[in-house]
Amino acid sequence: MINYTISYSNPHRHYVDFELTTPTNGKESMQFQLAAWRPGRYELADFAQNIQKWAAFDENNNPIPFTKITKDLWEVTTKGAMEVTIVYNFYANQLDAGACYLDEHQLYLNPVHCLFYIVDRMQQQYTLVFDLPKGYKIASSMEKKWNTLSIKGYDALAESPIICSAALQHDTYTVEGITFHMWFQGACTPDWDKLKKDFSAFSKSQIKHFGGFPTNEYHFFFQITPYKSYHGVEHSNNTVVLLGPGDEIMDKRYEDLLGVSSHELYHTWNIKAIRPVEMYPYNYTKENYFRTGFVAEGVTTYMGDMMLYNSGVFNWEEFVKTQNQNLERHLMNYGRYNLSVADSGFDNWLDGYKLGAPDRKTSIYPDAALCMLMIDLEIIRNTAGKESLHSVMKELYENFALKGKGYSEDDFRNICVKFGGLRVAEIFENHIYGIEDYIPSLRSALDVVGIELKGKKNPNLSAQYFGFVAVKENGKIMIKKVEPNSVTDKNGIAPEDEITKVNEEKIEGKLSDILKECKDEVEFTIKKKFSEKAIPLAIGNHYQLLEFVLSENGNEEQVVLRKMWKNN
Ligand SMILES: [Zn+2]
Repeated sequence: MINYTISYSNPHRHYVDFELTTPTNGKESMQFQLAAWRPGRYELADFAQNIQKWAAFDENNNPIPFTKITKDLWEVTTKGAMEVTIVYNFYANQLDAGACYLDEHQLYLNPVHCLFYIVDRMQQQYTLVFDLPKGYKIASSMEKKWNTLSIKGYDALAESPIICSAALQHDTYTVEGITFHMWFQGACTPDWDKLKKDFSAFSKSQIKHFGGFPTNEYHFFFQITPYKSYHGVEHSNNTVVLLGPGDEIMDKRYEDLLGVSSHELYHTWNIKAIRPVEMYPYNYTKENYFRTGFVAEGVTTYMGDMMLYNSGVFNWEEFVKTQNQNLERHLMNYGRYNLSVADSGFDNWLDGYKLGAPDRKTSIYPDAALCMLMIDLEIIRNTAGKESLHSVMKELYENFALKGKGYSEDDFRNICVKFGGLRVAEIFENHIYGIEDYIPSLRSALDVVGIELKGKKNPNLSAQYFGFVAVKENGKIMIKKVEPNSVTDKNGIAPEDEITKVNEEKIEGKLSDILKECKDEVEFTIKKKFSEKAIPLAIGNHYQLLEFVLSENGNEEQVVLRKMWKNN
């Protein structure tokens, strides 16, 4: 049994106070481990860097000795104590969908960041007692009694975020006997009727496609910010979604709210229940290398949007917008000719969540999602619409997840090829494990349902005219991406160069507004580490894009298969 009390005194300082009390069971020493990463984000995060103070006491409140074994493992010498209490604090000042945050309005914790497990006692019961300001409510998927939460085992605890606040808004909907909770923290006005109608529709569709739900209750925790934000993290029976600005979540940002929510719900099966064999069980202390990030995020990205489309929540235009976004990100990344999605997924632990070295890698999100679209359509072609990628995922759920087994990359590939045949085998070889150009295979797959790819000019003017993407960073216009062999590249300009002037004038306002007025040639003053000079660039057509367009003269078979693709 591990008893935690959680409190704080100066919320503006963002430090949360923790006291962990546990019997020693006669052990001479005990080891307390904090996680180094969390499931859902495959990179080391070293949460222990947020701990400012750490001490150990016996049942009479006498200090007892301890040593640090690793950066996040503490060993306590019990000296015959019956009970040990660990007292520490944690700096909670990161507000995203998978972090900890404390201020005057809320206490938000992801236990995997800030709560310890005792080595060799991971299955113990945890009780968390909160000392909170008057009027605060607690949102959590854990068992709750007043101000106390409880759960068995560290794995379940690690999956159970907590939001404590006086301003929580809450409602529920029910699908197939399962209660879905929606919690909103942060200033916003949820349109409950609209939310319940749309969320019920995609939840129902997802459950129907898998033939069951892995858990008997589910919670959506929405962290709504006053500024623009977008982030989601999945857990076994809940998700945290960060979205803003709060006054736009029911209109301008509603498609994003639906998109991220459907994506995270799909993860309840795909990665939480259907889990790579390499993560059965999780090792919280070090990298858990796996190559199937293209399944975890590629299938989920594609299916999250597809489920919104086939449940009628998204219309064709809204769905195709998501596919065009994946295609745009793919076409603007020349890393697609350098590292496959399988290899990039393995390297997620290295640089998966940052831009990284130019043109080095692909992404397990958009690039892998395009592979899954191709596989889905090729399975539909091969089986005349009787099977699809849904069949693959259902088989993984039934034959692996429900039997308590992890799947390997060969398991996934073999099931896909079983339904899809030779063309699907080629997609694995050329695009998931290889770096061949996607576009010919994508055109061929889309032809199954009568969709063409049409050329489109890049809407980002600096990308279109010159082949670079720039962003404002600390008041400076910094180049972040350059298309290889573009006019920018050929004139010696590279990522991390700064633009200080355009046509000899300091940049006021947006670069795109200035470029709108330009013709033929633009002179950029480029500042590098050791030089600054003016470089004229001729306007051209770079970073060319493609977009999905329904064929005007699709045949009957294509029309029938397109319906099956949507309604399967
Ligand atoms: Zn995801």
